[in-house]
Amino acid sequence: KQPHQKELFGHPVGLYVLFFTEMWERFSYYGMRALLVIYMIAQANHKDGPGLGWTELEAYQLYGWYVMLVYVVSIPGGILADKVLGQKKTVMLGAFILVLGHGTLAIDAPWAFFVGLGLIILGVGCLKPNISTMVGGLYKKGDIRRDKGFSIFYIGINLGSLLATSIIGIVVAKWGWHAGFGLAGIAMLFGLLVYIFGQKFISHVGNKPTVEEKKEDVSIMKIFSNIIKSPMQLAIFAVLLAFSIYVGFTKEGVDHWGYGALFIFLSFVVGLMMMIFKSLETQILKDRFLVLLLSFLLVIVFWGAFEQAGGLMSVYTEQKTDRMLFGWLVPTPMFQGLNAGFIILLAVWVANIWAKRKLKNKEASSLFKMATGTIIMGLGFVFMIFAVREYEANGSSGMQWLVLAYLFHTIGELCSSPVSLSFVTKLAPVKYASLMMGLYFAATGLGGKVAGILGEKSESFGEYAIFTGIVIFTVAFGLLVIALLKPLKRLTHGAEDNEVEMN
Ligand code: GLN
Repeated sequence: KQPHQKELFGHPVGLYVLFFTEMWERFSYYGMRALLVIYMIAQANHKDGPGLGWTELEAYQLYGWYVMLVYVVSIPGGILADKVLGQKKTVMLGAFILVLGHGTLAIDAPWAFFVGLGLIILGVGCLKPNISTMVGGLYKKGDIRRDKGFSIFYIGINLGSLLATSIIGIVVAKWGWHAGFGLAGIAMLFGLLVYIFGQKFISHVGNKPTVEEKKEDVSIMKIFSNIIKSPMQLAIFAVLLAFSIYVGFTKEGVDHWGYGALFIFLSFVVGLMMMIFKSLETQILKDRFLVLLLSFLLVIVFWGAFEQAGGLMSVYTEQKTDRMLFGWLVPTPMFQGLNAGFIILLAVWVANIWAKRKLKNKEASSLFKMATGTIIMGLGFVFMIFAVREYEANGSSGMQWLVLAYLFHTIGELCSSPVSLSFVTKLAPVKYASLMMGLYFAATGLGGKVAGILGEKSESFGEYAIFTGIVIFTVAFGLLVIALLKPLKRLTHGAEDNEVEMN
């Protein structure tokens, strides 16, 4: 079939189909996320209608699980695309499940809450990693526009988030919680429609693996079946896995078994990776796979610090910041909107800076950008240290510290996050493209979990120590990656060396 290669503003039209699909998907995701915790803790007499009336601790726990699972399910979502459906159909399936999921939350019944959340986790797992891989598929190997394409896509993500967080509160205040959840469902329906009607512009990407590809493929199932040969072994494996999740992630598990148990769970992921590594045919594929895995460590560090936004920094904003602006008390959630707003303002600027550097032949590899981004984001916490100092002296601290911190966080995110997506699509072995994207998102989810743990630790160590620790660790880790850049880049075997204009 002849691919439709029409272009708009210097990028394939398919990019805009994926842009608007993802914009609506993120509208529904972030809109619903903005309601989730406050809905769980809202009492029967809440002004927007009765919530679930949970304690804050219960709500935080479920929230942590939810955010982590949403991204960890990207791994099976990626496998489903690589092995069975192809990315395009898996995204369609995900969008459909998401409409159902958000729609279910619109129903005011106890069962609907958990069923809705479960469907959303499955839906995001099918959609998020695969739509990102498809963006990469729009560009040929070595096309210099790829990184910029991801930056544009990233604007769509944040446009959705900004729209949702500005509108959904108003809807809930007028018509109640379930109208808010329903709005997320309607938004997702728009996303599904954009995707359905845009199919002709993406006909050449994300297709099913061909029969030959499947034949020569060493599938994960095959690798698994080589290790697990009897139902007994499968049962042992399942019990071990369940136990690892229990000791690594649940509150009682962590209290009784310590964080070392997290290690058990991670070993499973590492084991899986080693099996895939062994199954790769050439040294080039192996090296690239390895450098990608190493870069995921940076991803965990990045999101472990960045995700303080929804936890520790949010609580700090609420409790210790003087939020009066010209006689108006700025609502806490608005500070989270700063991130999305700054992204929309700065995405093109940051992408251009790197593109210019690249044209001048200065260091602009993805790893360098990711490390620089981690350092810039980490330095944002210096402003939080100033804030804590001011709070200790005066009993409250100014809003400017938060604005500056989020500004640095956003510039760091723009150096790192869209670039990482692009990097994954450049380096992943084709037959595991979606799985690797799934793993990338799982790493961000793990970072989120780390952020939660750091938040808990702040209760005993205090915010000053946590913020200082984050600055030191992120900057040191970023510098370490920069120091190791040469050998790391050697492992990419020139995946980024010959990027050229390909209009
Ligand atoms: N804010 C970005 C998004 O929603 C990144 C999320 C992530 O990678 N964990 O796509």
